[in-house]
Amino acid sequence: MSVNLQVISTLQDRTQTCSYCPKLCRPACPVATVEGNDAHSAWGLMNALDDVTMGRAEMDATLTDAVYACTGCGACRAHCELDIDVVGTVLSARADARRNSVSTDKTQAVRESLAKRSARVSRREHNVGRVARAGEVVLLVGCSDRSGASLRSLEPLLSKWLGVSVWLAEDLCCGMPWREAGELQESSQHLAALAERMKDASELVALDAGCTGFLKTEARDPMPRVVSSAVFWERVLARAELPDFTGESLAIHDSCRTGRALGIFAEPRNVIAKITGRSPIELRASKRESLCSGGGGLLPLTYPNTADAMTRELAGLVRESGASRVVVGCSTTQARLTREGIKAMTLERLLVEWLVGPA
Ligand code: SF4
Ligand code: SF4
Repeated sequence: MSVNLQVISTLQDRTQTCSYCPKLCRPACPVATVEGNDAHSAWGLMNALDDVTMGRAEMDATLTDAVYACTGCGACRAHCELDIDVVGTVLSARADARRNSVSTDKTQAVRESLAKRSARVSRREHNVGRVARAGEVVLLVGCSDRSGASLRSLEPLLSKWLGVSVWLAEDLCCGMPWREAGELQESSQHLAALAERMKDASELVALDAGCTGFLKTEARDPMPRVVSSAVFWERVLARAELPDFTGESLAIHDSCRTGRALGIFAEPRNVIAKITGRSPIELRASKRESLCSGGGGLLPLTYPNTADAMTRELAGLVRESGASRVVVGCSTTQARLTREGIKAMTLERLLVEWLVGPA
């Protein structure tokens, strides 16, 4: 089979480095650990991709399925002395597989899910009849979160505190799911449409950790400055008149996309401390060692059993912590933990409860 390795062939230095490495990051990979399968570790994936870039193997169905066994959690990179970007390489391989029309049951499941998502997102985006006003602060809810309406009370409150117009933008998509599926064109289209809509805003606050990570690395002009939710709230709460502490003992889960990837650890802890009057309870694995919830990288579509096992492991850590509830970085983790019987909530939901009262 003749293949067009447009992207992955430029990353040979990375794949070769891993091929000489004695699997140093292997213990960190949650997928390989849950499955007991080294082929799905960073080392296994990068070695197989090195064979492709060197012409010793093809981007076939087996390898395509393998590169869909990565959640994009970045735990491998955090444990790599050479700071190898495994996630970027894996996403490039997915783009090449897509370009070469390599199709498997797993890529088919991804394609079907994204086709439905495309229709849903386009319909919703069409219904959002507005663009950001000049100087406006926009809170981007994220298209995976269907409970944005419960956050609307934040708009008038923030407008009063900040003295500028604030827009809680629901139903808009940044394009991340398509990037994770190797659909680069569709991803760019969503990103460009969002940037055009946001170009007059003063800042774009991404409430979802996945959107934050994606926008921080991919956003280009005319997108305004992108700020993570916890960084924004830490700044805003420092100068607002606030209710009394709740006194609740909450645990915190660090999202892979804002924690390990962007180093945002202190800010969510400071915000929780403002609300409760005490530092959050740390899970046994936290900050750079935080466990992935299994919801990233399209894993629930391609390897649902692995994703579920990862969620159960995280739920176990929360139970072990003894906390009544856990604050998480995205609605996907919230939903996955809730399914396991854990009381999980995003920072915004906690803030609404504290500032406005229970829904
Ligand atoms: S990512 Fe780093 S630690 Fe992991 S296999 Fe590659 S070189 Fe080794
Ligand atoms: S990003 Fe996470 S899931 Fe993917 S290879 Fe690295 S450790 Fe494994």
